[in-house]
Amino acid sequence: MRLTISALLLLAMSWSMGCQSPQPGPTDTQAPVAEPNDPMVSVNTLLPAPDDFAAQLIGTPEYPIPPYAEHLNGVRICLDPGHGGQAHKRGYKRGPTGVREAEMNLRVAQYLAEFLRAVGTEVILTRDGDYDMSLAERAGVANDAGADIFISLHHNAISNKPEVNRTSVWYHKDVDYRPSNLDLARYLLAGLQDSLALEQVTGVPLKSDQLMYEGGFGVLRHPQMTAALCESSFFTNPEEEQRLRDPAYNLLEAWGLFTGLARYAAAGLPHATLVEPADGLIGAGTPAALVFQLDDGLRSRGSWGHERQMIVSTSISVRVDGQDVPFTFTNDGYKLVADVPALEPGEHAVEVQFVNMFKNSVLNPHFVIEAQ
Ligand SMILES: [Zn+2]
Repeated sequence: MRLTISALLLLAMSWSMGCQSPQPGPTDTQAPVAEPNDPMVSVNTLLPAPDDFAAQLIGTPEYPIPPYAEHLNGVRICLDPGHGGQAHKRGYKRGPTGVREAEMNLRVAQYLAEFLRAVGTEVILTRDGDYDMSLAERAGVANDAGADIFISLHHNAISNKPEVNRTSVWYHKDVDYRPSNLDLARYLLAGLQDSLALEQVTGVPLKSDQLMYEGGFGVLRHPQMTAALCESSFFTNPEEEQRLRDPAYNLLEAWGLFTGLARYAAAGLPHATLVEPADGLIGAGTPAALVFQLDDGLRSRGSWGHERQMIVSTSISVRVDGQDVPFTFTNDGYKLVADVPALEPGEHAVEVQFVNMFKNSVLNPHFVIEAQ
């Protein structure tokens, strides 16, 4: 079994190099374009690719656009290629022969953006060149754009274990923080597992960023929308490092991420809107009602049976300052009415949770109301 998979992978690789890339493949001995002498401070460490490399291949039988990807039309997605600049820091975020993570992250993001734009997705890139940005600035780009989804694109590294090469996708804090983060992470993971098909798998490839830092990753802490961070494979693995130089392999990774996103969107992206009071102002010291319009992300398609309930009733909850409050929900009109107890003057956090029939959670569960 193991031999069979390896053989298939080798076949797939040699085929893709021969048929799709006019550039030398990863097994060639030709050196990358680099500064002389020290490969650990070189720039342009990836194999060069024509500007229209992705455009020529997207939608071909090798990198198909599935019909259900049409549900990505109109979704606003911010892609964040990790790192950038800092090539002068010797060996910084580089593989064994000096290939830079910042460059592979950017190329995958640019190819993914091309797939997404081909189906009408609004794409914002946090960076489109080789420069550094703070983690807060990256999230700020997504927040300012009002993105629905934020994805930080990375590749992984580990010291003294060159044999390690596997896929993981990371979510912020704990599983209750924003359940839609897990939906996004799960679909991205499935796409990467199908496309890159790395032989090694870790037991649970969805990881909390608190495993690394108590406060989690800064780049996942700041976004005010559904967010995940991909560590698609390990550039510290010598064979994987050489694959990651190859534009065909970067495109394959982008395609995996794209199909994951397409399946996520096809399953419906639920939203909630506070309609009464629309300005979020309530009277202090007296009970109030909040009316939310729910959207399961599916009904608006108008397909057969669309008038049936596609929100799981038992999944609905409303919390005010972390405390559950009573509510009523009706399938007719999808109105959710929450009973808010008397509140002290000031701002209060409201959280609305539900899942649609595909088990996708609401993308924007967090609201702020003000009692005056
Ligand atoms: Zn990284």
